[in-house]
Amino acid sequence: MVQINENYLKLKAGYLFPEISKRVKNYTQSNSTKDIIKLGIGDVTEPLPKACTEAMAKALNEMGTDEGFKGYGPEQGYLWLREKISANDFISRGCQISSDEIFVSDGSKCDSSNILDILANQNTIAVTDPVYPVYVDSNVMTGRTGGPLLDGTYKGLTYLAINESNNFLPEIPNNKVDIVYLCFPNNPTGATINKGELKKWVDYANRNESLILFDAAYEAFIKDKDIPHSIYEVEGARDCAIEFRSFSKNAGFTGVRCAYTVIPKNLQGTSSKNEKVDLWSLWNRRQSTKFNGVSYIVQRGAEAVYSSQGKKEVQGLIDFYMENAMIMKNKLQNAGFKVFGGDNAPYIWIKVPDKMSSWDFFDYLLEKASVVGTPGSGFGLSGEGYFRLSAFNSRSKVIDAMERIITI
Ligand SMILES: *Cc1c(COP(=O)(O)O)cnc(C)c1O
Repeated sequence: MVQINENYLKLKAGYLFPEISKRVKNYTQSNSTKDIIKLGIGDVTEPLPKACTEAMAKALNEMGTDEGFKGYGPEQGYLWLREKISANDFISRGCQISSDEIFVSDGSKCDSSNILDILANQNTIAVTDPVYPVYVDSNVMTGRTGGPLLDGTYKGLTYLAINESNNFLPEIPNNKVDIVYLCFPNNPTGATINKGELKKWVDYANRNESLILFDAAYEAFIKDKDIPHSIYEVEGARDCAIEFRSFSKNAGFTGVRCAYTVIPKNLQGTSSKNEKVDLWSLWNRRQSTKFNGVSYIVQRGAEAVYSSQGKKEVQGLIDFYMENAMIMKNKLQNAGFKVFGGDNAPYIWIKVPDKMSSWDFFDYLLEKASVVGTPGSGFGLSGEGYFRLSAFNSRSKVIDAMERIITI
């Protein structure tokens, strides 16, 4: 019989979102009259920007004509999209990222997992705790960790706790770690990092020849001027960082699928024989071999994000969700909850009251308010005692959910 990849057996059985669905289902079966408001999974709710749908409709029609038909595109993405990304997301912010350092893809979730393809298994890895679970599980699946320990952590990973006492900023490790995952603005805590703090990480990485995998999926939600949108705004980052970006959360492309990864051409790794190798070349080879590009239609949709109408509409979406976040934060704070995040990120991170556990609070909100959120403990040990609410929902549902919570 065929042998399986046993690393998959190390994955913890009860993954967070299936467990949430199970509890919600049990609840609805016995309380069929009450409508549930879901502020759990981090998915957008508003329709796509018109600029994007129009660009995609036009591209679709083009594809149905003799002159406009296109087959396989470049594996790295069409140059016209990569040029707009470079100009708008980087050059305009003073980051010297050129179009050929940008690799267009169908998602940051897959890119942040697939990047492990070009990195050796022996590298030591650090993640924050709590964390976006993809970083951990992709390392487990590829055999970069030991088995799960009783507390739910994996042997071989370095966990950097983020909590109130460090302002949800991971402390720089004393020892050398080869690969560090950083996500700012942060999912799940909604925390951000300023340039000075991020510089400390860049300096750490350059000093130790480490690689930072920087996930900036939520950069569009940043309002404060001193918070960097890209790690390349920090001097030295071109020598130590790969950045993941996505159209999922700014333009609502979670169901359309388009993202990109930045690998500076000068970024290097080493072979076991101490030869220096460009990571760009390895990723280019990886993508050319295993990936056939994002659909032309979708890339035209992504391009429209950078049109003047597209920019306006995307800003409208961001403002809408951030107003939701502000309403949520104010209401919860006034009701006496200790609340974090929500200022430059679409997530509200609540300190669970009365020494309840995260799952106790989940059940409590579900039963008393019919509101669904995400238990902080599902994102890691240090998430215990916290709870995530997402600002992705309609205004009326957000207001309704807050009324229900504060009048329990
Ligand atoms: C939503 C999200 C992404 C985006 O993933 P896609 O695959 O591009 O939709 C990336 N990172 C984090 C932390 C996210 O929450």
